[in-house]
Amino acid sequence: ASEKKLSLTTRVLVGMALGVLAGFVIRTLFADAALVQEYLVNGLFMVGGKIFIASLNMLVVPLIFVSLVCGTSSLKDISTLGRLGGKTLAFYLFTTAVAISLALLMGELFKPGEGADLATSSTFAAREAPSLAEVIINMFPTNPINAMAQGNTLQIIVFAVLFGIAISLAGKSGERVAALFVDLNEVIMKLVALLMNLAPYGVFCLMAQLFTSLGLDAILNLIEYFLVLAGTLLLHALVTYSTLFRVFTGLSPITFLKKMEDAVMFAFSTASSNATIPVTLETTTRRMGVENRVASFTVPLGATINMDGTAIMQGVATAFIAQAFNIDLTFGDYLMVIMTATLASIGTAGVPGVGMVMLAMVLNQVGLPVEGIALIIGVDRLLDMIRTAVNITGDAVVTCIVGKSEGAMNVSRFHDPHAGEKEE
Ligand code: ASP
Repeated sequence: ASEKKLSLTTRVLVGMALGVLAGFVIRTLFADAALVQEYLVNGLFMVGGKIFIASLNMLVVPLIFVSLVCGTSSLKDISTLGRLGGKTLAFYLFTTAVAISLALLMGELFKPGEGADLATSSTFAAREAPSLAEVIINMFPTNPINAMAQGNTLQIIVFAVLFGIAISLAGKSGERVAALFVDLNEVIMKLVALLMNLAPYGVFCLMAQLFTSLGLDAILNLIEYFLVLAGTLLLHALVTYSTLFRVFTGLSPITFLKKMEDAVMFAFSTASSNATIPVTLETTTRRMGVENRVASFTVPLGATINMDGTAIMQGVATAFIAQAFNIDLTFGDYLMVIMTATLASIGTAGVPGVGMVMLAMVLNQVGLPVEGIALIIGVDRLLDMIRTAVNITGDAVVTCIVGKSEGAMNVSRFHDPHAGEKEE
């Protein structure tokens, strides 16, 4: 160990850059080379990328369950749980409301859809937006094993919290089970750390495959939509979050954003908040010093219900489609957009592309033509990556805010630039 190894962040960044480069090279020089396409793009890259995503997803269910049981069972007093939950929900709803209002505002201000050419050939079927009652009922599992098998985060959270409460009430037996979960948690965090070492290669494969086929010409046609949306996402991430972070924690938002780098890169390359849960959890606890009893609850919950980036996409896209079809939206329509987008996001897992499904519900709800989606779907992949990074940054902001306010944040760890960096 004489040579200093490059940090994981640097290696992932290099993997990402090389992947983008490889994608472009193949796209420009080897577009017609059947062997390259077959063995590299649809062979090695595809297999490597899929294995990487699978290995992250593999961690999610055991990680959420074990760390949340650990977190809940270590609470000294059950009543803190209600306060913790209430605060977390309030902040998640608040950031989402700010996000979507900002998006609608920007959509009105810049009018990205005005004078757009309509190309509405394909049809896109919209599902009904879920009702509030459905959303709430669906949070309760009838069968916890089934909830885990399906990776239903909200149901797993409900079961884990109840299980953790029972452990803390079960006296001696509870203590033994709690000790087991503390050990299990260590083991799973170790597994996370091990699999992270694959990340540079996984990210390389994902980027290389994606950029071989990414429709960048489509972006040129939709440049205004793309820029307004990407700009709003950036604005929200940098301004809204920094302000909230500063006001509610009193800590430096710059340090916060710097420490987010790993999680942001994972979110960007996987386009999935869910698959990024292991990294978000690791970042908020080991690097930023939020205690597991808070983060184990807020992070998985946020990955499912708090999607600020996705909400921003709904706002800008709705405004864009309305403008493209020359339909005026009323104030009531806007309120409807805000409500539907928020409700739809609660029951939807953070996986690639679900924002589009939610958008279909929103359009349906305000009576806009759902085929409008055909206009923007071509540029959605890149935007999906960006908004997923925003989604998980929002989860981390709220995690720190709630952690700090609960006295569950180790501030000196937050200030230590090397906290949580592993020397493997
Ligand atoms: N991919 C996003 C996420 O996982 C959801 C979306 O907007 O499609 O957070």
